[in-house]
Amino acid sequence: MTHAIWWIRRDLRLADNAALCAAMRSGSVVPLFVLDPALTGRSAKRSRRWEFLTSGLTALASELEARGSRLIVRKGAPAREVARLAHELGGAPVFAEEDFTPYARRRDEAVSGVVRLRLLPGLSLRHPAHMLDRQGRPFVTFRGFRQAWLASPKLQALNDAPARLPAAPAVSSEPAPSSRSRQNGHDAGECAARAALEKFVTERIEEYAARRDRLDLDGTSRLSPYVRFGMIAPSRLLAAAGRAGPDSSRAWIDELVWRDFHIATLYHIPATATGNFAPFGQRIRWRNDQGEFDRWKSGTTGYPVVDAGMRQLASTGWIHNRSRMIVASFLVKHLLIDWRWGEKYFREQLVDGDLAANVGGWQWVAGTGPSSSPYFRIFNPALQGARFDPGGDFVRAWVSELRGVRGADVHDRLPELSDYPPPMVDHRFARARALEVYRSAIKETRESR
Ligand SMILES: Cc1cc2nc3c(=O)[nH]c(=O)nc-3n(C[C@H](O)[C@H](O)[C@H](O)COP(=O)(O)OP(=O)(O)OC[C@H]3O[C@@H](n4cnc5c(N)ncnc54)[C@H](O)[C@@H]3O)c2cc1C
Repeated sequence: MTHAIWWIRRDLRLADNAALCAAMRSGSVVPLFVLDPALTGRSAKRSRRWEFLTSGLTALASELEARGSRLIVRKGAPAREVARLAHELGGAPVFAEEDFTPYARRRDEAVSGVVRLRLLPGLSLRHPAHMLDRQGRPFVTFRGFRQAWLASPKLQALNDAPARLPAAPAVSSEPAPSSRSRQNGHDAGECAARAALEKFVTERIEEYAARRDRLDLDGTSRLSPYVRFGMIAPSRLLAAAGRAGPDSSRAWIDELVWRDFHIATLYHIPATATGNFAPFGQRIRWRNDQGEFDRWKSGTTGYPVVDAGMRQLASTGWIHNRSRMIVASFLVKHLLIDWRWGEKYFREQLVDGDLAANVGGWQWVAGTGPSSSPYFRIFNPALQGARFDPGGDFVRAWVSELRGVRGADVHDRLPELSDYPPPMVDHRFARARALEVYRSAIKETRESR
């Protein structure tokens, strides 16, 4: 019998999976997951992301068993382990969903040097290699990217999960790392992802445009952890957008386009994973005060809306997009701490921590990315709180010291409290300081040309 390996990486699903479909067309499918030491170090194993991934693997393994198959797990460098299994199966071809991070691309190049590896689309809605402007350059504005995105063909059709799969051959397997933890109310796995999407589409998508920025309402899908590990395909989300009215549909699709934009930026300019896209970024004189960084992390800045976001992050591993923008802006602009410190901390904490989206989000806030927020846009935390948490409920839910403060007073009319700190830096002072630092960086960069 001819075998075909379906190498699972961050596509933990049976439906809408082009790699699985291609493997099924090619031979008797053998599902493989490789525990790659480069991605499963001690610190990774302590993260919520790891818990969510392993819970997802547990769910996937049982879905495979229910269909007559079995998940094969191997441990070691992928180039060695994938080749070893392919060899054991008589030179079986390998099918996998294409991933675009710098590490994934190096890994896949190494693997394709030793086996017949076919990469298929699914991680993004458009292939980043095709997302170039008329001059063949990567897009540096979201607007241009969006136009090209809308004009380019869809990559992937939707399809159901197979009802049956062939029995896996008698090859060895490590035990799958298993866990059944919930992360911020998220059960891992494809079934949970589909149920969460259905709930969002029937109960909340219609109001997405109106409520998506509100911190005190459950206005967004909260699907990001599932999307991060491919427990649901982005093409399934895109199809669901059609069930909303035009405003919400457009607003939701735009978020999926932003996701593709960040993927494409990292694909074309891998140096942005750790370096500033805008040259002036190198000249920003960050203050990088460790004590202030620690206060930001622990949610004791004295700015309620910032502290609520940081405490929610530490406690659950998920925060709202608006909250991500507010806390990131505070770190970068109020405290003048290098966005890379925040990016690393977010990636450690977030269940959905994803290199492209996270770096893209941080560089957007810092003003150093392509199509990012202008340097002079400095969020006023009190105004952000009053606007996006008008009744103060979000703050009171996470900052217990402020539970006795009524309504919107939690944002800017706090009484003196013995157990809650005063603001660690004055907003007007911090704003003026950030503007000066950014302006000098921009000036120095111009003068150096
Ligand atoms: C500083 C910063 C860091 C971020 N880090 C991450 C990260 O590590 N991982 C991550 O998935 N998102 C990240 N984001 C993007 C965004 O905040 C989250 O994707 C979103 O809050 C997830 O909530 P949701 O599923 O309810 O989103 P919805 O609003 O329901 O959006 C649907 C899906 O679109 C995608 N998406 C939405 N907004 C964005 C965006 N701006 N960029 C990229 N994809 C988006 C997500 O997959 C999301 O599940 C970051 C944003 C900022 C400002």
